[in-house]
Amino acid sequence: MNRTGNCLCGQVTFTAEALPRLQACHCSMCRKWVGGPFMAVPCTNAKFEGPVQRYASSEGFERGFCSVCGSSIFFHPIDSDLHGIPIGLFDDPSGLPFKAEFFIDQKPDCYAFADETRKMTGEEFDKKFRNG
Ligand SMILES: [Zn+2]
Ligand SMILES: [Zn+2]
Repeated sequence: MNRTGNCLCGQVTFTAEALPRLQACHCSMCRKWVGGPFMAVPCTNAKFEGPVQRYASSEGFERGFCSVCGSSIFFHPIDSDLHGIPIGLFDDPSGLPFKAEFFIDQKPDCYAFADETRKMTGEEFDKKFRNG
């Protein structure tokens, strides 16, 4: 299903096909990047327009942000068609059940989500998504 959204200032817009789930990452990089847990929807066929700045945050991964207002726009494994887009950018965030939490071992002890999710440590995440 094609979804649309935009950043805080409205200059970056996107369309994307959302996979039907919401997931959170608690890793220290994501928390620096968005100021808290990174709650994102994995999307394919994402098309962005406007002043997107790309930042190579680690080997093989880049993050996009709006160069005007600073909104986080996407997390992207460079050799894939996937973009993780923050749930807060979507015009319609409905119908995307919260399914998974990554880097649960890096989650600060000051909060926890109540929804039933599949929780993976950083090591489990790397095994599944980086080394095959
Ligand atoms: Zn903006
Ligand atoms: Zn992360």
